[in-house]
Amino acid sequence: MRPQSANSGHSRAAKKRTFFTGAFCKPGGFVLCYTAAMTKGSCLCGAVSFELDDAGILFSVACYCTNCRKVSGSQFGVYLQVRPESFRWLAGEDQVGSFESSPGNRRGFCRTCGSIAPIRTSYGVVRVPGGALDDDPGASPDVSIFVSSKAGWCAVGVDGPTFPDSGPPEFWRDRLSRLGSLS
Ligand SMILES: [Zn+2]
Ligand SMILES: [Zn+2]
Repeated sequence: MRPQSANSGHSRAAKKRTFFTGAFCKPGGFVLCYTAAMTKGSCLCGAVSFELDDAGILFSVACYCTNCRKVSGSQFGVYLQVRPESFRWLAGEDQVGSFESSPGNRRGFCRTCGSIAPIRTSYGVVRVPGGALDDDPGASPDVSIFVSSKAGWCAVGVDGPTFPDSGPPEFWRDRLSRLGSLS
């Protein structure tokens, strides 16, 4: 038996993209039309939501520092660095709390569900947590930082089977057969 949702979220074919088409008049009287790809994101409870223009993504960072591990509950955090003019709140900006985890570095979170939320940084960009995105913006981390802080329990370098997807049925059958021996 495998988790029903094991493959959900991994299909690029199922990816939904949002496009914004706009037009504006130039002083000469002609109209310039443009289309831009956009990506939406939200917190776990849905109180906080936002969108960004994909073209405004400057770069994406994978950070292995202790603080990113604690706040993400995972082995590293992924943060897209977005131009402020390319980022818009859709709902719940007033539901976003913040915590200064190190001097000058504030982290945003949803006050209801605790999910990491986007935040305007002291260095002039909006830092958007990758895990909050509902669509694929087509940008993956360009750089990994604080790798010297990588935890020993990180999946990177872990011995044992690795799979490109959720794994074959035989693997799940074998592991789940051990449930009986624990009782
Ligand atoms: Zn929330
Ligand atoms: Zn970090």
